[in-house]
Amino acid sequence: MGNIVAIVGRPNVGKSTLFNRLTGQRHAIVDEISGVTRDRIYGKSHWNGAEFSIVDTGGFAINSEDQFEQAIREQVLIAIEEADILLFLVDVSTGITDYDEAVAEIIRKSGKKAFVVVNKVDTHERIPESSYFYALGVDQLYPVSAINGSGTGDLLDALVEAL
Ligand code: GDP
Ligand code: MG
Repeated sequence: MGNIVAIVGRPNVGKSTLFNRLTGQRHAIVDEISGVTRDRIYGKSHWNGAEFSIVDTGGFAINSEDQFEQAIREQVLIAIEEADILLFLVDVSTGITDYDEAVAEIIRKSGKKAFVVVNKVDTHERIPESSYFYALGVDQLYPVSAINGSGTGDLLDALVEAL
């Protein structure tokens, strides 16, 4: 398999924060405003002797709900095309949204390997809540906190195993 990993998911789930955490860089722009990452950003990461590239997706102008969904679809389709493995990021604080469902459907149809990563699990108390995302139809979830780094070691172990 190749070694390009793309982080996908709807705006505000924490894609850029996770990118920064996994690359040790501060290149991706993190903002309170949804969709603020302007371009696709590429970084390098290594773990257990394996090196891989990470792509942060996002960054689009949103003027309407219709455009919003369309923009997410386009981002995910581009990511699927260029990546070997996807990190499909969701947010424990919101649960599954319609946009998450849309992303899940695109990934399913593509047949591309994807890890469902449940972000914002900042404390152990939130781990049980993350199991709600099994409803997306996956048999494995990776709860993480992109902000404090918890869970990212287990995620990286599984990821480099799959490269
Ligand atoms: P993106 O739009 O998916 O790239 O999301 P960002 O990385 O820009 O993050 C969106 C918001 O979620 C920002 O306010 C981040 O600080 C916040 N955020 C990201 N990761 C976490 C996390 O692990 N825990 C918490 N509590 N907030 C997070
Ligand atoms: Mg972003």
